Amino acid sequence: MRRRLKTGDMVLIAALLLPLVVALPRLGGPGGPPEMWLTWVGKVSGILGLAMMLLAGAVSCRVPGFDRPFGGLARLWHLHHWLGFAAFILVMLHALALGLAAVPASLDAAVATLFPPLSHGALWLGWLAWAAMVVFLAPTFDFFGKPHYQRWKRLHLVSAAALLLGLGHALLLAGEAWPWWLLGIAGLGAIAWRKGVAPSRRHPYRVEEVVPLARGVVELVLRPEGSGIRHEAGQFVYLSPLDERLAAGRGEEHPYTIASSPADARLRIGIKDLGDASHALQTVTPETRVLVEGPYGEFFGRRFPERDMLWLGGGIGITPFVGGARDLASGAAPEGRVQLIYLAQDDARAYYRQELEEIAGRVEGFTFTQHFSREQGRMTEAFLREHCPDFTEREIYLCGPPAMNAHLQRLLAGQGVPALRIHSEVFDFL
Ligand SMILES: Cc1cc2nc3c(=O)[nH]c(=O)nc-3n(C[C@H](O)[C@H](O)[C@H](O)COP(=O)(O)OP(=O)(O)OC[C@H]3O[C@@H](n4cnc5c(N)ncnc54)[C@H](O)[C@@H]3O)c2cc1C
Repeated sequence: MRRRLKTGDMVLIAALLLPLVVALPRLGGPGGPPEMWLTWVGKVSGILGLAMMLLAGAVSCRVPGFDRPFGGLARLWHLHHWLGFAAFILVMLHALALGLAAVPASLDAAVATLFPPLSHGALWLGWLAWAAMVVFLAPTFDFFGKPHYQRWKRLHLVSAAALLLGLGHALLLAGEAWPWWLLGIAGLGAIAWRKGVAPSRRHPYRVEEVVPLARGVVELVLRPEGSGIRHEAGQFVYLSPLDERLAAGRGEEHPYTIASSPADARLRIGIKDLGDASHALQTVTPETRVLVEGPYGEFFGRRFPERDMLWLGGGIGITPFVGGARDLASGAAPEGRVQLIYLAQDDARAYYRQELEEIAGRVEGFTFTQHFSREQGRMTEAFLREHCPDFTEREIYLCGPPAMNAHLQRLLAGQGVPALRIHSEVFDFL
């Protein structure tokens, strides 16, 4: 994940602070005796916690293009997770600080502050919002092991209840309601869009060909039924297969990188068997329909950078680079040279090797090197220096299994490559 602050981050920070800035004149400062200070902390954490909850909902709307000011959808999901987690902590702090603030008066007063009679509906709405948060966040914190992705996504619908209840709590208690209306519309509107409108905006494609690449890996060639989507190299889509004969994953949306050139109207998608749905896709029937949503992502940015690049792709993480190489083959001319190193276990797992070698043979400025971990072990600095002597000066793109990504990030950082010049994507949003 790129660390630089993006335009979208700044908008998010402004939206986050809005209800606090509007409420501050009423809240006053944090001075005075401990109970006043705790009351202030309780109110500020409550305001920030609810604003974060609503913004976590707002950034989940997944409109193609909306992710780009945030540096791509993967980065936006990280922000979404971070906001949800921070909101939970702040909401806990909110209740704790307000309860503690009443302790100097008496313990009974503290209990009554937190658990007043049922007639105090506004407060109970807050507790219900908290309970809904616990229900949908518990699997995220891995309390019960790694969650099943599709079940965890369905559970996320409870988040809409949490937002609604939290919003009710704020609207009944806040002096100025308008910032909450704004954030509420953004958060709940985004969820309504995702569940209601987005499914009808997916693009129909037909499976033209299923090309076996290796054991457990196929490339689907998809033909648009209408105008199709336009994309840039390195972007990805959500793919929902509609083949009735599929054993699993029918109608489910899964993210896959587009491995075809932006100049090609057909989409090519390399799919590795990594679970139920991707296993079933190995046997998808030609001429069946799929729905495509997107494109998303910012892997290479809007165009290739104006400097030499080093691409490091491992396993199925080679797909964004296959898309990039096919883009070069169809005439895209980056400013600098491109060196692609393909990390695979052995020749049988280097599914795109022949085509990449062939592209390197005819595209000037594009070179290709194969690295086999079974023979050569882990990637080393010596290997990089031998095949790309100026790698520390280049813009570096990584995509592969998490362990490979982590190893390469450490290796590059150890060689003094600044974090801002390393761009990486891991095929996992959890
Ligand atoms: C940006 C991105 C690009 C990707 N590109 C490719 C590609 O080009 N080729 C390829 O083979 N794979 C790609 N993947 C991985 C692919 O999405 C998963 O392998 C697939 O979703 C697994 O689903 P499953 O039901 O087969 O396995 P499961 O057992 O259900 O899932 C295995 C793991 O995949 C992840 N996953 C599952 N469903 C989703 C989902 N809907 N959204 C996000 N993550 C999910 C979860 O981490 C889960 O633990 C990409 C993933 C991401 C995030």
